[in-house]
Amino acid sequence: MRLSQRIEAVAPSRTVQFTRLLHDDPAKALSVINFAVGEPHTGTPQPVIAATKQALDKGKTRYGPVRGLKSLRTLISEQFDGYREENIIVANGSKQLLYGIMQVICDPLDEVIIPRPFWVSFSEQVKLASAVPIYVDTVDHQLDLTAISNAMTNRTRAIIINSPNNPTGAVYSQEDLRQVADIAISKDLTIISDEAYHDFMYENEAHKGFGSMADIRDRLVVVRSFSKTFDMTGFRVGYMAAPQKVITAMSRLQSHLSGNVCTFSQEGALAALSLSPSLIKEKQRQFQKKRDMAFDLARELFDCIKPMGAFYLFPNIGRHLSAGQTSEGFAARLLEKGGVAVVPGSAFGMEGHIRISYAVSDKHLAEGFERIAGVL
Ligand code: PLP
Repeated sequence: MRLSQRIEAVAPSRTVQFTRLLHDDPAKALSVINFAVGEPHTGTPQPVIAATKQALDKGKTRYGPVRGLKSLRTLISEQFDGYREENIIVANGSKQLLYGIMQVICDPLDEVIIPRPFWVSFSEQVKLASAVPIYVDTVDHQLDLTAISNAMTNRTRAIIINSPNNPTGAVYSQEDLRQVADIAISKDLTIISDEAYHDFMYENEAHKGFGSMADIRDRLVVVRSFSKTFDMTGFRVGYMAAPQKVITAMSRLQSHLSGNVCTFSQEGALAALSLSPSLIKEKQRQFQKKRDMAFDLARELFDCIKPMGAFYLFPNIGRHLSAGQTSEGFAARLLEKGGVAVVPGSAFGMEGHIRISYAVSDKHLAEGFERIAGVL
């Protein structure tokens, strides 16, 4: 059977591919230290599990509103200044929302600016909307605002900003975000702010992000998720805050795509939002400690910029590469010889690096780096 040119042009998710490999071979999974997955290791909070079970027992197993439960959208809207439940849509993870927004705002050959390195799905989601990803290199993992300005054409439709960033863990300064906002205003662009890791920010309490800028509210699309904050990756609940017109269009798309998100998952998400904020603070504290440990271990082996958010390191592996060796070859060597899984930088559009997720136990973190040192 002939497949469409559209799907032929799209690469599979390299991070998801790896998860499948481990599920397919549980014996191998046991012996491998997994620095490749992008999910916390702490476990879904018990009240979330209990609320989900209770929802099942109460028969909350039927179709629901396409945009998500009103009670959930109302609670979510309270996180954003000046937003109401009409500004919120809930979908199957932020992944579906990011796919959806490209469908909703892009026409064929429109251009979307993506700072590089970038999360694996951005480029493919843009392509799936028949639009064109325009990559703009970062400098030391920070935005290059001049290069972003220079990349603008009359086809530029949007810019994707992902802070804290996957794969680098970089957090962009409020000043840089303000400059992105000014560029977006002057060029009439949509800002897509992927904030999947907004609860994983270290030493930056004052960071308010785009949400504090009232003058871009009509062009700002914020995407967040329950996945990482509450260790609910399998629940598949993410949400978008955006102008009502965008939410109405997203809802139209979603009505043909998936309908509502699993009803009892949403009940679990409601319970998550009722958890004490001190739990999130405590989690931040634990992850900051882990970041410190991982960074200290990594810089003994690699050149590495200290990440200020998320749970990834993106070290430079240049000095360990043999002639002609790619990050893919290097990652394969770590897996084969050391039993440590990492994601090659090429998956994020940047050779000469690997991504290490430190969302693992301290024991695995120490052992993983020991194994890497052994291979090197
Ligand atoms: N955005 C970024 C930057 C991510 O790293 C991920 C997952 O790894 C997602 C979005 C998607 O998360 P989810 O679909 O689980 O909400």
